[in-house]
Amino acid sequence: LSARGLPARTIEGFLRPLLSALLCDPDLTTSSRCADLALHAFARGRLCLPEGGADVLPELLAAALPPGTVRTGVRVTAVAANRVTTAEHGELTCRGVLLATDARAAAELLPGLRVPSFHPVTVVHHAAPEPPLAEPALLLDADRRGPVAHTAVVSHVDPTRAPVGRFLVSSTVLGPPPDDLDRTVLAHLAELYGTPTDRWEPLAVHHTREAVPAMPPPHDLRRPVRLLSGLYVCGDHRDTSTVQGALHSGRRAAHAVLTDLGITPTHTEDRLPTAA
Ligand SMILES: Cc1cc2nc3c(=O)[nH]c(=O)nc-3n(C[C@H](O)[C@H](O)[C@H](O)COP(=O)(O)OP(=O)(O)OC[C@H]3O[C@@H](n4cnc5c(N)ncnc54)[C@H](O)[C@@H]3O)c2cc1C
Repeated sequence: LSARGLPARTIEGFLRPLLSALLCDPDLTTSSRCADLALHAFARGRLCLPEGGADVLPELLAAALPPGTVRTGVRVTAVAANRVTTAEHGELTCRGVLLATDARAAAELLPGLRVPSFHPVTVVHHAAPEPPLAEPALLLDADRRGPVAHTAVVSHVDPTRAPVGRFLVSSTVLGPPPDDLDRTVLAHLAELYGTPTDRWEPLAVHHTREAVPAMPPPHDLRRPVRLLSGLYVCGDHRDTSTVQGALHSGRRAAHAVLTDLGITPTHTEDRLPTAA
């Protein structure tokens, strides 16, 4: 970024914390191609949250299918091109299998698939009696004086997520969380928002050790999704480590399945890879 002529103040004060947030990568070890994609997507589409929570997107996709097409809560223990073994429902035979799990589960079910390293992410939710910020903005920590990388009054974007009469503040800690997480996060939030946080109620802490597959260079944005005829794999670990990457790899895999079944896909494949 310096070589492209951007001033140090812009890089350190805005781009570094923004890219850390978009890539969940505080040390910015991600491939610059992925960083370019993240910035491109941010400039073009801005940030967004699904109304009602992250589950809503798969629920909407499933709702468009004939009733009974999707079954959830079924744990798969083994896969082959013509067979899926489940923990509770025995064996199912089929014409093809598309494995759409996270990277680690995919490699356990299909040994030989690569397991990437991961960026850990901790998300801390608080209920505040008053909103500490008037706008639905993502507040970035450029000074790195505490554990919070970025934070937002999420109920300004999606009021359905907040407890009645209060405001939901969701904050993200990147990297391994500190031991005294609750105290240090509240103190850092008071500094970031410039307001006391002692009346904020902690609602939940979600720590995901293997949250986001790392994308060090050289990162292949289009890992193969067709392993052999009848056996396919998709997910963020085949593309970019984002919701868009997961969706994009899913579309690539769907095309491969249809092609192998001799069916012409009705949608043309998007040639542009995307990132968060
Ligand atoms: C805290 C956090 C914050 C994030 N923030 C963002 C963000 O702001 N923007 C963004 O773009 N991305 C973000 N991500 C990344 C994003 O969530 C993932 O990239 C995306 O969910 C990957 O989708 P996926 O379908 O590949 O895998 P997943 O969403 O992991 O889905 C895999 C599914 O497979 C199921 N599964 C696993 N094993 C089995 C088995 N044996 N049998 C049956 N089912 C199984 C799992 O239960 C899961 O439902 C974030 C991730 C985390 C953890």
